[in-house]
Amino acid sequence: MKIHLLQTGTVRCKQFQLTGASHNLSRMYQLIFTQKWGEWMPTYCWLIEHSNGLILVDTGETSKIYEPGYLPKGGLYHKAVETNIKKEEEIPNQLAQLGVKPNDIKTVVLTHMHGDHIGGLSHFEHCQILVSKKEYEMATSKKGTGNGYFPKNWPAWFTPTLIDYTGPAEGVFQKSYPLTTDGSIVAVPTPGHSAGHQSILVKDKSFTYLLAGDLTYNLDTLRQEIPDVVLMNKAAQETVSRVHQYAKAHPTVYLSSHDWNAAQLLQSKTTVY
Ligand SMILES: [Zn+2]
Repeated sequence: MKIHLLQTGTVRCKQFQLTGASHNLSRMYQLIFTQKWGEWMPTYCWLIEHSNGLILVDTGETSKIYEPGYLPKGGLYHKAVETNIKKEEEIPNQLAQLGVKPNDIKTVVLTHMHGDHIGGLSHFEHCQILVSKKEYEMATSKKGTGNGYFPKNWPAWFTPTLIDYTGPAEGVFQKSYPLTTDGSIVAVPTPGHSAGHQSILVKDKSFTYLLAGDLTYNLDTLRQEIPDVVLMNKAAQETVSRVHQYAKAHPTVYLSSHDWNAAQLLQSKTTVY
């Protein structure tokens, strides 16, 4: 089993999301009225080599964001996030650097359905694509657009397999969904950043790699217990403490989608504890 990191462009959010803000009024104020952006961060996806076949976790950003009408014009979206991507930075070129073609991939699993995680979907029509049922329902509901989902940009053929976590408990995670026949790669619900956000546990001999999506922006903010949320919510706080409990019980390498240090953490197998 091997995990590869693939970077598709960069993203930045308001600084308070990285350093925390004491209460929701302050968070909302800083979101709308301050121009204090954080540093640009990478946007990562992961390719996992497993004997069942290649699994891609998330598909990254797309340069279609610069086409008129792709992203909403006004609203909170542009106050919360800015993305940067060139056509040649998209997922097909990143895979090509590993000698992999989109057609070689069998399974795509999405941590959640925000644009910088699903932008490359159009290349994977031949794959089984898995997403949590709760996430899909939120994204396609009336609340979807207000929560950063734009189903109009999804490929017309897109009919994902919806995960309802029928698998056994994984430590402190009460439910799971196996992605491989040997149970070494599983999805677990990690709600908070989004309603149906999930993370992928890759259980190797001595370590678990937790592919965290946007659970927190990076390992430091996990350690400081600052979830990646616009407005603090109970689910996000519970998820962060659950990950801490999990990492105390299992040596865990924590890799989030936007961690500056992800390549280094993966290479050195740095654990949370
Ligand atoms: Zn997100």
